[in-house]
Amino acid sequence: MKKYLVGDLLREYFGDEVFNLIGELSKKRDYSEFKLAEALKMEVNETRNLLYRLHSLNLASFARKKDNKIGWYIYYWTFHDDLINDFLLRYKKSQLESLRERFLKEGKSDFYSCLNKCVRLDFDKACDFSFHCPECGELLGREAEGDEKRLGSEMIKINAEIGFLEGLQKKAAITQNPPATGGKSADASGNANKVKKERKDKNGNLF
Ligand SMILES: [Zn+2]
Repeated sequence: MKKYLVGDLLREYFGDEVFNLIGELSKKRDYSEFKLAEALKMEVNETRNLLYRLHSLNLASFARKKDNKIGWYIYYWTFHDDLINDFLLRYKKSQLESLRERFLKEGKSDFYSCLNKCVRLDFDKACDFSFHCPECGELLGREAEGDEKRLGSEMIKINAEIGFLEGLQKKAAITQNPPATGGKSADASGNANKVKKERKDKNGNLF
């Protein structure tokens, strides 16, 4: 499952249409938008709209070139797969932050009720009565924790996703700036191999 996590997160954020477009677009640089639309069996305008969405997030860029045969401009698009990890990390961190806020808010508005159904009190009131029913003296029980549990397990899941993405980021950083070791010429070729391998891994993770 972990193998497809980056792809899963992209699909989660963008939905199927953009996710499929990313899959095709990341096959090569300077992908003509006409060829891309053809490969995706979509209208060019529709394809362009999805591309602009990626562009607005700085995940894709284009170069405009005049086609001398047909006399108009064609846009050639490139997907920046090296920026995906950062992008997903920011997305997941903000998702976690809003969950955490909800968790705290809903935790604060806890309710406690009497087993005999005499009263229903918020946390402060229940505290005033030492968590005992002011009418019958029965111990007060905390109400439905279902939502809190759901939020809690959601947060655990997102935390794991963040951990995974941070792991990938570290791996990429090591590949880009390997720690210096002796033997310059041997090192250079070794690094080249590493970089190649990393790209393969990345694509493997992606799709
Ligand atoms: Zn009671």
